Amino acid sequence: MANVNQNYLKLPGSYLFSEIGRRVRAFSQEGTPMPLIRLGIGDVTQPLAPAVVEAMVKASKEMGDKATFRGYCEETCTAYDFLRFAIQDDYRRRGVEIADDEIFVSDGAKSDCGMIGDIFSADNVVAVCDPVYPVYVDTNAMDGRAGEYDGQRWTNLIYLPCTAENGFIPELPQGRVADLIYICSPNNPTGAAATKEQLKMWVDYANAHDSVLLFDSAYEAFISEPGVPHSIFEVEGARTCAIEFRSFSKTAGFTGNRCAYTVIPKDLVRGGASLNALWNRRRGSKFNGVPYVIQRAAEASLSPEGRVQTQKTIAYYLNNAKVIRQGLSQAGLAVYGGVNAPYIWAQTPNGMGSWEFFDLLLKKACVVTTPGAGFGPSGEGYIRLTAFGDAAATAEAVERVKDILK
Ligand SMILES: *Cc1c(COP(=O)(O)O)cnc(C)c1O
Repeated sequence: MANVNQNYLKLPGSYLFSEIGRRVRAFSQEGTPMPLIRLGIGDVTQPLAPAVVEAMVKASKEMGDKATFRGYCEETCTAYDFLRFAIQDDYRRRGVEIADDEIFVSDGAKSDCGMIGDIFSADNVVAVCDPVYPVYVDTNAMDGRAGEYDGQRWTNLIYLPCTAENGFIPELPQGRVADLIYICSPNNPTGAAATKEQLKMWVDYANAHDSVLLFDSAYEAFISEPGVPHSIFEVEGARTCAIEFRSFSKTAGFTGNRCAYTVIPKDLVRGGASLNALWNRRRGSKFNGVPYVIQRAAEASLSPEGRVQTQKTIAYYLNNAKVIRQGLSQAGLAVYGGVNAPYIWAQTPNGMGSWEFFDLLLKKACVVTTPGAGFGPSGEGYIRLTAFGDAAATAEAVERVKDILK
């Protein structure tokens, strides 16, 4: 008899977005008084940059020509050189030197964040932020590192509360040492971004305890303030303790195109083993790379022309963020994030529960948000709004919310 991976049976259903979908459908069936505006989605809406589209067309034509057709990338190929060099240049703009064989191009930061656990043993103690991007938690549960789910928390995980008191930046764990630490900055869902000093504290902790920082910088392109590192490798000491996940998804609108990369420095060694070598070995066996056309598209997003065009789209989203932030704060809510991230984290009024506030905004304003409680216990009392919507619809949504909170 085939036995299933028992860890999967411990997982709760993916409750958050299905429950939101259920409530929105039920409400829509009654007939909504105004058209719904969705500020709950974590997906981009603006089209790809013209330079990116042009590159995809050109690369597609190359694939249809015998002289320029490409099949598999060679066995150890982590990406075509043109893309790795473009990524290296991107790091150099921040004063960071990364070797080309430290860059592993993949089909998504979600896949890489979720599968990096393959190279770590099941007995590592994992720390996650609370609230958190659920991928880190669920994939560790699948790997058997999370323990049992008690309805709110996993018994073996260390939860690092991110609250208004600590500016939504996690503090070092007390007691149990965390071996693997997931940090997402700028953060989904809170929109908070860590300063260099705050990240240095984590780098020092990881180096002191031989831990590994798993740093997700999917939203680095949204950083608008100085002093906020775009890469963990801007922090001294990170090369001996950190793995960085980056993605073209939010940076260049690639959520449907699928391209990302993970950087593992060759200086990162644990138990005598190079993590770069282990990940390379794993990839060689389990992955055959990202389509040539998509790699050309990603390269184009980093070209001078592509940068100008994608920055314009980011500015569009950041302006939505500003509209949401200002409007909700005029409505009397405490709002966080939205400056270095496309997410706004708003406190519910008068201690209302996050689902209760979600329902109020849905039914009275026809605005869909995401209840903070869905991202972890410390998300209770907050909602997340995203800046990825249409500008006019976003402004309209904010006016409606202001109206009902009057
Ligand atoms: C959107 C997002 C990513 C990017 O995932 P892809 O698989 O590259 O699309 C990574 N991390 C976080 C926290 C995200 O919100």
